[in-house]
Amino acid sequence: MSQILILGGTQDARILADRASVAGHTVTLSLAGRTSDPILPACRSRTGGFGGPEGLARYLRDEGIEVLIDATHPFARIISANARRAAAAAGVRLLALGRPAWIPVPGDRWTRVTTTEAAARALGPHPARVLLTIGRQEVAAFRAAPQHAYLIRSVEPPDQADLPPIARTLLARGPFTEPDERALIEAHRIEILVTKNSGGAATYAKIAAARTLGLTVVVIDRPAETDTFTRDEILAHLAAPAENRGV
Ligand code: NAP
Repeated sequence: MSQILILGGTQDARILADRASVAGHTVTLSLAGRTSDPILPACRSRTGGFGGPEGLARYLRDEGIEVLIDATHPFARIISANARRAAAAAGVRLLALGRPAWIPVPGDRWTRVTTTEAAARALGPHPARVLLTIGRQEVAAFRAAPQHAYLIRSVEPPDQADLPPIARTLLARGPFTEPDERALIEAHRIEILVTKNSGGAATYAKIAAARTLGLTVVVIDRPAETDTFTRDEILAHLAAPAENRGV
């Protein structure tokens, strides 16, 4: 059985932590601390940054971690890069959990962009009612498109200074159901949905609801993922004897 550190902040990470604990591993789930009231797993957890890749490498050595699992959100790029550097420096095996991106299906009306700034531009010149579901940290980019009326959904409230002039906030934590997403879109007469291509099932319902209602969806594409594994592949790896793991 292994000492495992899981870098989390996602539902996937929590499920993986619970399943690895049940399998008998000693698991610590690490959270950045962005959410004031996070849902915690049954295993040990810790909160807050490590102090860059050097700090994370030190933590891996000090805690005798044998396997580091990067189960962070696909858009959390810095911590994933830190994990690669720290694992190499500390000689610890790194397994990254992949989450397949959403792909458009017939009926979807997607405008694909690669940055939040481009998403704001893609809303166009004419005032529209926009549902923003990109979290709270990058909301300020939409101040560059002040003609729109925004409904901003996030787990924690965005900073007031980041808000575009016409904005309402809605605090909610997924997963969401498709009927609820349709009801939200209709109640607020939303015309455009903005989302990151987070992938996974937990927040897909808004995409399906937008398709049914014929909405335009501005989709922020994610950075390419390399060498990732599914949850079952990671659990199978952890079940293998240590000498077969290349640790
Ligand atoms: P980020 O830009 O990649 O990371 C910024 C810094 O936050 C890192 O350098 C690290 O600080 C700290 N950090 C990030 N994740 C951590 C973790 N799991 N445990 C300990 N420290 C962590 O991250 P982000 O995009 O702000 O995301 C923050 C957290 O929210 C992540 O855990 C991610 O899984 C979750 N999340 C992000 C998004 C998103 O769209 N970005 C969406 C849903 C959930 P140090 O350098 O000091 O170690």
